[in-house]
Amino acid sequence: MQSKDQLPMSTTADLAVIGGGIVGCATARAVLARHPGLKIVLFEKEAKLAAHQTGHNSGVIHAGLYYRPGSLKAATCTSGREAMYAFCEEHGVPHQRCGKIVVAVEGKEITALEELERRGVANGLNGLQRLSAEELQGHEPHVRGVAGLFVPQTGIVDYVRVTQVMAEHIRAGGGIIHLNTPVRQIGKDPGGEYRLQAGSNTVLVRGLVNCTGLHADRVARAAGMHPDLRIVPFRGEYYQFKPERSTLVKHLIYPVPDPQMPFLGVHFTRMIDGTVEAGPNAVLAWQREGYRRGDISLYDLADTLSFGGFWKLAARFWRVGLEEQGRSFSKRLFVKSLQRLMPEISQDDLVPGESGVRAQAVDGEGRLVDDFRILTEGRMVHVLNAPSPAATASLSIGEYIAERIMELTG
Ligand SMILES: Cc1cc2nc3c(=O)[nH]c(=O)nc-3n(C[C@H](O)[C@H](O)[C@H](O)COP(=O)(O)OP(=O)(O)OC[C@H]3O[C@@H](n4cnc5c(N)ncnc54)[C@H](O)[C@@H]3O)c2cc1C
Repeated sequence: MQSKDQLPMSTTADLAVIGGGIVGCATARAVLARHPGLKIVLFEKEAKLAAHQTGHNSGVIHAGLYYRPGSLKAATCTSGREAMYAFCEEHGVPHQRCGKIVVAVEGKEITALEELERRGVANGLNGLQRLSAEELQGHEPHVRGVAGLFVPQTGIVDYVRVTQVMAEHIRAGGGIIHLNTPVRQIGKDPGGEYRLQAGSNTVLVRGLVNCTGLHADRVARAAGMHPDLRIVPFRGEYYQFKPERSTLVKHLIYPVPDPQMPFLGVHFTRMIDGTVEAGPNAVLAWQREGYRRGDISLYDLADTLSFGGFWKLAARFWRVGLEEQGRSFSKRLFVKSLQRLMPEISQDDLVPGESGVRAQAVDGEGRLVDDFRILTEGRMVHVLNAPSPAATASLSIGEYIAERIMELTG
């Protein structure tokens, strides 16, 4: 039987969503919920949905502790987190609101921990709990630290499963999802419609949303935009606990993050399937979808190295970059950084796990774009920076884009 994804492609639609990760699916679903009759197509280049960032992450429902109050990240993470819990409840997606602790290993990190607590309160988090060294042990007996912060709102889920349920809703609402269909060219027709080269077909649409993650800047440029940023891919590598040692971790354990860096530092995560992961680190990937150390694409590499912003970034962070590379090549160094939080962990406790590649936008001045960046031009919306916590925030990001696209397309 022919599946809906293999239906012959229609040559016109009201709206095209490009990218079948969690943000694209949440967007298509939100638009359809507001405007049931609308003709929506979603194009995904891979043979399945959630094949990239959405399928290669820590599976954490973030509380909204870290983000600058007033930022789009803070707003959509806070509302999106509760929307995500409600979505999982309603549609039977396994999840757990297990809470997490952030651990200050040394006294000098306490100021940063206090600042995190202030941010959390400013972002509306209730019930944050400061922990003494003894209380820390009560929550996570194998962790060493001088103080901690317990965040009750944090949880875990499988975002691939969430995306699949979103896709069921899109199809039930009349939306069409085309897998194996990369969008390569985007032009403007004299009638004002956008002409998409999608797979081997040409489709005319009134509006479009670019949710292509690691390729978002390229798709924006293909559509005639000139964003002053480039996606720089950072691979995050994980180790997995051997089953007999996974009892060392009860829930989620995070270090106090370096405020200069956009990543949260290697942490311990009990996943929804019961396995426990340690990681991720953050190394420059030589390929946008390069999941292994040896993966390299000369095209992607040239794209990164020809971007002035990358060299400005490298000039500032070369030392951190070298340390991260070291941890990528040496299990001993990786484990050493984990031992800061959990001294008794050893190399024997861990086996190599999965990896993921983050789509991190870097601007022309070499700054890591901190907030989500969503640009509109004409009747197009381009999601140009949606790193963590975009999976948590996806339902809210979808609503935000749905509102914008309807204003634009009328
Ligand atoms: C290591 C790691 C850990 C993370 N941990 C967490 C976490 O615990 N909690 C959290 O909230 N967030 C986390 N994140 C972030 C989160 O995974 C992402 O923010 C989120 O998945 C982004 O979703 P997306 O739909 O924008 O991108 P993606 O999931 O990457 O989807 C983009 C899609 O677009 C498709 N595509 C690209 N180009 C084209 C084209 N030309 N035509 C058609 N399709 C195209 C791709 O194939 C892909 O399927 C993590 C990310 C990483 C990498």
